[in-house]
Amino acid sequence: MSDHYGDVKVQLGQMKSLGEDAEKEEVDPEEEMPVSSPSASPDPAGCCITTAPGTDALSTNICKQKGKRSRKNPCGKPLQGFPAHAVKNINSPICEQTLLIKGTGKILQGKSAESNWNYVAVHESSNTQETRCEDEFKLPRKRRPVTVDTSKAKTSLEALKLSIKELQWKEFHTGRRAACDIYWHGVSFHDNENIVSGQVNKFPGMVEMLRKINLSRAVRTMQELFPEEYDFYPRSWILPEEYQQFSTEIRMVKESDATESPTFIVKPDGGSQGDGIYLIRDPGDLKLVVGAQAKQAVVQEYIHKPLLIDKLKFDIRLYVLIKSVQPLEIYIAKEGLTRFCTEPYQEPSQKNLSRVFMHLTNYSLNVQSGNYVHSDSQNTGSKRTLSSVLYRLAAKGVDIKRVWSDIIALVIKSVIAVLPDLKVHYQADIPPAKPGPTCFQILGFDILLMKNLKPVLLEVNSNPSMRIEHEQEVAPGVFEYVPSPVDEQVKVGVIRDTLRLMDPFNKKLTATPHPAGGGSDPVEVIPADGDSQGRSPDNAGNLPPLCLKQVYPKYTKQFSHLRLVERIAALFIRFLGVKGNMRLGPTAFRTFIRTCKLSNSNLTMASVDILYIDITRRWSFALADSREAGMGLQAFVEAFFNLAGRRFKSLALREQVVSLLDLCESHLGPQSGAEDRRSLSCSRALPRGGRTPALYLPRPRPISPAAHRRATSQDCRPHQRPKPRTLRANVEN
Ligand code: ADP
Repeated sequence: MSDHYGDVKVQLGQMKSLGEDAEKEEVDPEEEMPVSSPSASPDPAGCCITTAPGTDALSTNICKQKGKRSRKNPCGKPLQGFPAHAVKNINSPICEQTLLIKGTGKILQGKSAESNWNYVAVHESSNTQETRCEDEFKLPRKRRPVTVDTSKAKTSLEALKLSIKELQWKEFHTGRRAACDIYWHGVSFHDNENIVSGQVNKFPGMVEMLRKINLSRAVRTMQELFPEEYDFYPRSWILPEEYQQFSTEIRMVKESDATESPTFIVKPDGGSQGDGIYLIRDPGDLKLVVGAQAKQAVVQEYIHKPLLIDKLKFDIRLYVLIKSVQPLEIYIAKEGLTRFCTEPYQEPSQKNLSRVFMHLTNYSLNVQSGNYVHSDSQNTGSKRTLSSVLYRLAAKGVDIKRVWSDIIALVIKSVIAVLPDLKVHYQADIPPAKPGPTCFQILGFDILLMKNLKPVLLEVNSNPSMRIEHEQEVAPGVFEYVPSPVDEQVKVGVIRDTLRLMDPFNKKLTATPHPAGGGSDPVEVIPADGDSQGRSPDNAGNLPPLCLKQVYPKYTKQFSHLRLVERIAALFIRFLGVKGNMRLGPTAFRTFIRTCKLSNSNLTMASVDILYIDITRRWSFALADSREAGMGLQAFVEAFFNLAGRRFKSLALREQVVSLLDLCESHLGPQSGAEDRRSLSCSRALPRGGRTPALYLPRPRPISPAAHRRATSQDCRPHQRPKPRTLRANVEN
């Protein structure tokens, strides 16, 4: 452990002894802080189903631990009596997950037939049970190494190789005819279309969902429902559609206070590495191209008072693992990177707007500045570890526990915002009946700290660079890739520990499948606090403690009330009908209205048809890129809000939506949103209140977010599935 880690730990210990413990209801920052180190201990023992290694394993064992003889899984559910039950997250360091049951020909690997989530389907037969009894006392064999297909890893390859080596797993760098346990893709889920089992390190649809416009839309929907909770994202407008509204609002701000001269940052929708980004102070300075050539972009309020270190603006790159979407499991890397500008910061003025080395923290831009400092040290230079920056701040008396707690909240809320769309993509790309892999993904969150220490989300990268070397001029005119110690320290840890968490032989045994669109009740398994979070999931002993900390479901209580749009998405998926669809046709929409008994004298079926046509037409922009015509999720959400407003006129938007959801679900029976109903009751949907002051512009806010949405819906151009195949490789930002 480096010295500064130790120092900060001491400081934190002192803070704790001074009674500065985080409030119980808030995120517990101490345990999660990047400057602390988790205690490593093996997972609690549990029993599991296993076979001997290899694909032709012919026996099934019950692995027992702690010497208890039991035919129960760790949840206490008997294994017998399930004709074809699904068992999730099988967890044992010694268990094989691929099972060919003696005499049955049934294979126990991958997903259940009903679900694409992280389950293992288990088909028992009497034969199995007999064999299990026979083998109950056999010693487990040494497991085969986990196999990883790295043929599509691209720029992650070096860090991946190091990680696989540390874990003593087996790499297949040119691919493998037989299935691998894990497939590492450099760009998207679709890098290799032929995977039918195992785990892929990308979710279908993630790239599209995290494009600037889609992310802005998803957050905006959440801002409508939970304005106080989603105040960590700068006010944004989508261009060119919202140009009029943008200029009107800015004019009103300026008119209300002549001294106000806010600055805005314009970012092209598909851009990265700061490409095409520029600052403006007047809507007239937008480089708008009209007509078919119109460039889509987000124009965003510029955070003009960032926190500075050494007079320089910097941002945080935080690595976040989405281990599973159902149940939702989020891990945050305790160590991240900070990227520094290379020119001292000044608040934006007409004169300095174009000084990119002052305003943009992108590595790819600043590395071109003569001032860029490549450093072997973690706490100097233009790229530093997050812990070293937090240490600096702690030394100045900053409450870094609070900062870290706010960052965790920002991450969980952002993931919750994109989850509904992600689930629709998931069921479309891997329909429940189709064989397919399960998915996980490392995301790169770019976060800016404001001067008042409030974290602000800049963007989320679906392909954060995992490069651990950088180009350097080793002699005049001679460039070479040289190792970057800071990158290596952070990124290899993130990849290695992601792999450890995804180890197929180490999954925890849990119960109850959670189908995306059909099947039985969805039930999210919420481990109790103090479960295996933060512990080393293997018994290797020689590996360091995990650098990834679970934050969800750990903090379910504080955030589950936000998962409202997911319930709308569950309805949407239910009525999609044909597997693989992402859009609802008019008949399906009518069926939804009828089944949920929403039509009455105020909402005739004729007006339902008009609503469908009206909303679908306005959202039809994305059709050119989509697989089929109809109503996408975001349009459905708008329709749902509209229906909720008509039905429960006297309530505020959020209560309208909750009431309509309750109504719909009550007519649909147990299939829809059981998990959600349990955790998202109406009372839970009340705001918790912002902990930190709102960011942004002195908003005269002539239009409320909900009204804003309705007002702009006339010229609103949704961006639901823009060019899914035109993806870029991961690049250093
Ligand atoms: P890209 O994907 O091109 O890197 P980002 O959204 O990350 O686009 O923006 C690039 C850089 O611009 C960020 O790293 C940050 O330094 C700066 N930036 C972006 N948005 C804002 C904002 N709203 N306020 C202040 N600075 C910003």
